[in-house]
Amino acid sequence: MSLSELTAIELRDAITGGRISSVEAVKAAFAQIDRLEPTVGAFISLFRDEALTRAREVDRRLAAGESVGALAGVPVAVKDVMCTSFGATTCGSRILEDFHAPYDATAIRKLLDADAILIGKTNMDEFAMGSSTENSGLKQTVNPWAPDRVPGGSSGGSAAAVAAHLCPVSLGSDTGGSIRQPASFCGVVGLKPTYGRVSRYGLVAYGSSLDQIGPFGHTVADAALMMNVIAGHDPCDSTSVDENIAPVPDYLAGLDEPVEGLKLGVTSTFNAGADKSVRGAVDAAIEVYRSAGAEVVEIDVPHMDYAIAAYYVIATAEASSNLARYDGVHYGHRTSNPADYVEVYSKSREEALGQEVKRRIMLGTYALSSGYYDAYYLKALKVRNLIRGDFVRAFETCDAIVMPVAPTTAFKIGEKTDDPLKMYLSDIYTISANLAGIPGISVPCGLDGANLPIGLQLLAPAFSEAKLLRVARMFEAATDWHTKRPALVE
Ligand code: GLN
Repeated sequence: MSLSELTAIELRDAITGGRISSVEAVKAAFAQIDRLEPTVGAFISLFRDEALTRAREVDRRLAAGESVGALAGVPVAVKDVMCTSFGATTCGSRILEDFHAPYDATAIRKLLDADAILIGKTNMDEFAMGSSTENSGLKQTVNPWAPDRVPGGSSGGSAAAVAAHLCPVSLGSDTGGSIRQPASFCGVVGLKPTYGRVSRYGLVAYGSSLDQIGPFGHTVADAALMMNVIAGHDPCDSTSVDENIAPVPDYLAGLDEPVEGLKLGVTSTFNAGADKSVRGAVDAAIEVYRSAGAEVVEIDVPHMDYAIAAYYVIATAEASSNLARYDGVHYGHRTSNPADYVEVYSKSREEALGQEVKRRIMLGTYALSSGYYDAYYLKALKVRNLIRGDFVRAFETCDAIVMPVAPTTAFKIGEKTDDPLKMYLSDIYTISANLAGIPGISVPCGLDGANLPIGLQLLAPAFSEAKLLRVARMFEAATDWHTKRPALVE
């Protein structure tokens, strides 16, 4: 078996057990990258030399009998929206093409402290705005399962990198579905943690009240391992939650133990809106749970119909404020010959921001402007509160909710680029979890007629990732969808 087939846990155990070296693991990752990256296009930057240097250091420490971290020697990729003190942090935007952050995001620091080997930073929709990675200002990423299709987005590069076995695990960020939806399109596991579980310090902000960092992997256990590394309070992020209030458990402990008396909430109305193949796979997954002894209960999330509308007001409002700093003065590209200072701002932004980003800045600015604030922004916040309440009530009768991740499998490149509303609708099943702040996971649960992966979404109450992972693991243990590989990898 080639090293690129191993999960992060297997690789780490092989390295710490002395069966292979971290240098070998990193070289194997780069060999796979040399072979497949020209097709897939998952990465914006690669850290070949630095990765090997770090791998040698991990090997040296192991040889010296020193203790090493939970990701010792394992190659990891991160979405290029997290600041690194080395290399560029572009956010998939031409405006930040030359931006070098002065510090590491907390999630990055924790990966490095756990002795992970950062091999590169992955492509994404510009500032994480999108559902297909086609809004990247820098390059195109394709779906490893079908190179004429999108990998999903906005964390498309991180999902594709894992799906193509360029690395076993990666990090993405999820504001409205950007981890779960690409995970579903690429046939890998993707977890969006509870808002406040993982520090956002150094995560370039899109919608600050919605953004969360989370892992991709081939298995639920690898997602749990990554959570063990990145979760926890951070004094640098006041929205990260105090561990006295919500302690961080060991996400790997008890992972294989099925949840006794599991009650799964389903909502037949949503499932009905998905494509036939997706519906079929989700229904089959529900049967898997039933066979494992779960009780299936019908739940109601009555305000979910308003989720997309509320999300696109709140997210754009926050984005319009968060992106004001890219003006050629504070941050980012500056136009070369401005006629006056107004042009410094207007031309810098005009030249280097993409269409979708501009659309959202305008939408958000409008929604926040005096006179419209109450009609749009405040109303959206009220809807958000109702959705949050819907979930609180739903979780009184079930442990986890099961539904599709996306209404379709991966769509064709270019299929939705001319119709932003159509693109927005691919988030219909993922957005509510961000509005409610609850955790959600996508696990592979099928392939459609065109051999494209289908994801199963599971949602759980805030800060119950440990249980969510166990529920996801129950499905994984009973099926083999997570072992399927795109033809290009063979
Ligand atoms: N597709 C959604 C959007 O464009 C979600 C993106 C995300 O989660 N970052 O806003």
